[in-house]
Amino acid sequence: MARLFIEASRLADPVVVLSGEDHRYLMRVLRLGLHDRVVLFDGVGVEAHGTVVRIGPRALEVHIDERKAALPTARLEMTLLQSLGKGDKLDLVVQKATELGVARIMPMTSARSIPQLDALRAGGRRLRWQKIAREASRQSGRIDVPEIGPVTSLSVALSAAPKDALKLMLWESERQHQLRSVMPATAPAQVVIAVGPEGGFADEEVAQARATGFVTVGLGPRILRTETAALVALAIVGFALGDLG
Ligand code: SAH
Repeated sequence: MARLFIEASRLADPVVVLSGEDHRYLMRVLRLGLHDRVVLFDGVGVEAHGTVVRIGPRALEVHIDERKAALPTARLEMTLLQSLGKGDKLDLVVQKATELGVARIMPMTSARSIPQLDALRAGGRRLRWQKIAREASRQSGRIDVPEIGPVTSLSVALSAAPKDALKLMLWESERQHQLRSVMPATAPAQVVIAVGPEGGFADEEVAQARATGFVTVGLGPRILRTETAALVALAIVGFALGDLG
């Protein structure tokens, strides 16, 4: 069935009017017609099943037939602390990480990140990432949308990680602990994964992460690109401890 993300406040009304991009998506992309059913979800746990009751050239109306608390399936909460790399790499990471079930992405600048924090703050990048996350949630049938944090520094992101989470920093120079060896027998409620930029983490950053309770882990003998490392780690952790596979 067609699925569309809308803000929670708009789900309270008996009839929801959809215009702009939502109208275009439902009409042109999904080719919905009168009386077709659609699921509207708010990304925080409510799912409304409705019927298209009116179609206009610029807007359409959906009558809400039933509202359900869409209980998120009990699953691991995975947070990705992703260092910003060159260009639009985070676009891909946001899209694929959403498909893989990430709960939260915190974009961060680290010592060897190329983009500058201020330049990013000024840009509308966060809005774009949030839009990518909404679209990927919709496409993959997720009932929630991952949270995309503002761009922060590595130290802020590290210290924001919850105390009881399993905290992992991917570090290609780690020889003692591979990701496989740190997977606990019972899944923790939360896992936080920190991934470095193209240039890798600086030694001081590794030390800082360890001081805040992160375990540094390797992903095998090959160097992965930052976006590959992030997605592979989410897939492995999701498989070992979460709902993947
Ligand atoms: N500085 C490195 C490459 C960094 S790769 C170099 O040029 O040699 C970018 C990021 O991906 C790293 O900071 C790390 O977080 C992750 N990564 C890539 N390959 C990895 C591996 N084999 N093990 C663990 N982490 C890895």
